[in-house]
Amino acid sequence: MLALSVPAPACAQKATKDRVIALDTRLATDTSRTRLVIDLNKKVEVRAYTIANPNRAVIDLPEVTFDLPVGAGKQGRGLVAAFRYGQFAPGKARIVIDLREPALIEKTFVIAPVDDQPARLVIDLVRTDAATFQKTALQPERPPQTLAARVPPKPHVADTRPLIVIDPGHGGPDVGAQAATGDDEKDVVLEVAKKLRDQLLRSGHYRVVMTRDDDTFVALEERVAIARANAAALFISIHADSLSKGTGEASGATVYTVSEQASDFEAQKLADKENRADLLAGYNFASQPDDVANILFDLAQRDTKNHSALFARTLVGYLQGAARLHKTPVKSAGFVVLKAPDVPSVLLELGYLSSPEDLKQMTSTVWREKVAVAMAAAIDRYFATRAPAVAGR
Ligand SMILES: [Zn+2]
Repeated sequence: MLALSVPAPACAQKATKDRVIALDTRLATDTSRTRLVIDLNKKVEVRAYTIANPNRAVIDLPEVTFDLPVGAGKQGRGLVAAFRYGQFAPGKARIVIDLREPALIEKTFVIAPVDDQPARLVIDLVRTDAATFQKTALQPERPPQTLAARVPPKPHVADTRPLIVIDPGHGGPDVGAQAATGDDEKDVVLEVAKKLRDQLLRSGHYRVVMTRDDDTFVALEERVAIARANAAALFISIHADSLSKGTGEASGATVYTVSEQASDFEAQKLADKENRADLLAGYNFASQPDDVANILFDLAQRDTKNHSALFARTLVGYLQGAARLHKTPVKSAGFVVLKAPDVPSVLLELGYLSSPEDLKQMTSTVWREKVAVAMAAAIDRYFATRAPAVAGR
């Protein structure tokens, strides 16, 4: 018997009949084991497994509303460095545990609610060696719904207004960069993306598709597929960066375009980090390169690259009055999400969650509105500049 005593709270509030709700969470540890307990309003079927590189334990659940206390999962204990959670695919939620050292899932079980006690999902992790971990770590399954099913159909041909795809980075168990205050990149960028969408729709000049408009995981390849399936005239990915302690200081917004060779070392590091988003959500499938490789394709891409660069410069120009800019505000690197060969694409890093000044701005509704207005103005300018080439898109 495990010598871990984990008291449960007296009652599970906010329980409703149909939804599964995660209410609270606790970590307990002894010398070799760590136990994670999640209180739920009802019993659910779960599946738990480990994945290597980086070492994680993944728990797949049916659709769950995470009504956990603020900051839940950010403080690790024992074998658990931290854990993240959220919607992973339609009807499917996921908890991803970042492991501090190699561990095996010794037991996973769900205790039904009794009297005033909530249902409890219990995961016991036990320390193991690296070789055993590698042998037992599984490959995760693809989300149940196929990519094609989640990509919306092509837009109505009668509507010739440019279609803009807005791509808020991360989502669900992939929280993105994190601020010391507990603010997650995935939430900050979604709020700015929604404001930009509203600005563009209000103008009546554009159609808008969001790659996500709630806190759901979307794979990188899927984001690119959404842009292509909609024959988007422009793809804008919105992110926020963070530097870990002791790695220097940086602040301000940066606009990135795609390139084989990164413009500098920091840009390369950032692209590597952003390209790991799928991996961190427990989705270990690298983007498949398109096998359409002919000269027309190359020409199209060159044209796309020019337009991406034009929009990046335009965007920086308009952001100048609204936001603090990074000392080198236009950069390039090999971002997977920018690789649609036929859609001009940029990735905007709003700023650094590790910079107190940037964080203050990024969490301000007034600032978010100002940035959205500036972005919409940059989009207007861009389409006015490249108007003849837009025809037929
Ligand atoms: Zn990001």
